[in-house]
Amino acid sequence: MNNLLLQKTEQYLHTLCNKIPNRAVGSPGNIAATDYFRESISPFGWDITSDPLEVMDWNPGIATISIGSETLQVKASPYASGCESVAELICVSTIQDLENSDVNGKNLLLFGDITIEQLMPRNFVFYNPEEHRRIISTLETKKPSCIICATGRNSSLAGGAYPFPLIEDGDFNIPSVYFTDVEGEYLRKFSGEIVKVKSSAARISSRAYNITALKKSGKKRIVITAHIDAKKGTPGAIDNGTGVTVLLLLAELLSDYTGKYSLELVALNGEDYYAVPGQMDFIRKNDGQFGDIALNINIDGQGYFNGKTAFSFNGLSGDFKTVFDEILESSEDAESGPWWPQGDHSIFVQYGVPAVAVSSSWFLSNMENQTITHTEADNLSIVDFRKVLKTAELLSLIIRKMTL
Ligand SMILES: [Zn+2]
Repeated sequence: MNNLLLQKTEQYLHTLCNKIPNRAVGSPGNIAATDYFRESISPFGWDITSDPLEVMDWNPGIATISIGSETLQVKASPYASGCESVAELICVSTIQDLENSDVNGKNLLLFGDITIEQLMPRNFVFYNPEEHRRIISTLETKKPSCIICATGRNSSLAGGAYPFPLIEDGDFNIPSVYFTDVEGEYLRKFSGEIVKVKSSAARISSRAYNITALKKSGKKRIVITAHIDAKKGTPGAIDNGTGVTVLLLLAELLSDYTGKYSLELVALNGEDYYAVPGQMDFIRKNDGQFGDIALNINIDGQGYFNGKTAFSFNGLSGDFKTVFDEILESSEDAESGPWWPQGDHSIFVQYGVPAVAVSSSWFLSNMENQTITHTEADNLSIVDFRKVLKTAELLSLIIRKMTL
């Protein structure tokens, strides 16, 4: 193992996850992270492009619910606007209840069945179940004054957070707050009474960037992606400082590449953000050109200290697959894993491009109940720097072997 590169791996991760406070899309830390990415790649002879994105940053402020002289501390739903709503409390636990209740102008507590899954943002095109769209459109038609969401945990859709925000959507304009299912049970006792919901959350218009580094060679491209953004409130080490670090290491390891394919390293901005702006911009800019992409390799969730690195495949032809199989067989740190759809690799698959998702086997096995991602626990103490460098070295080897 190259000691100098191992030091760089640590340095990249330390800067992305510790020095930069948070990489949520449009925040100062997010802009600092994309600046750092661009600067770190610049010595290695790639053509670098910054694509600006119009986005919304958000300040959570302070949120409370008051019942008479009693006050509960709650959280504003991410990207919700602030409010001061004094109104009757009405409690609803199913879509049918919601459809049959007069909630206009009231403070609406959602609890139970209706809060089991985090609702997909209204304009999220990749995955949006009919039931979620029905809840959102009913809320928009009925116009409660404020929505109070009582939630438990939903690791596969919302990461490890408890409670999780039921609504996380800057395109949804009814103010909302959230707290735990247990607190929700308490508040239900005050159904029909006047309660006050106050939130000083604020939307802030801002900018973000996708950064692309191109090594021009053949007409067909191999596009290697990692999302650079993180949820608010997490250092985003496994999700996805490690993926970004693999891209930075690949920029150096492949600096002399002159093979059959053009290579593109893309720091995508928005995988953990309601409007996925970087992903949408990438799709727009590649409209009609997805056929030129021979392969996508997406790194997300890699480098966990426990277990191996998982390579999951979708739609790879025999030749590409053979190269991966040969390299994985000779590696002690990596193995092939099951396909999983929650990541930027799915965009490529939707456009018929073969894709490889690189992650940690442990997370794939524990996706339903892990309590790490999107929380403060996703910090550098759970990262094995050697595994991160090893993955970059394996990918560099694999890409150099792609000659067919
Ligand atoms: Zn991620």
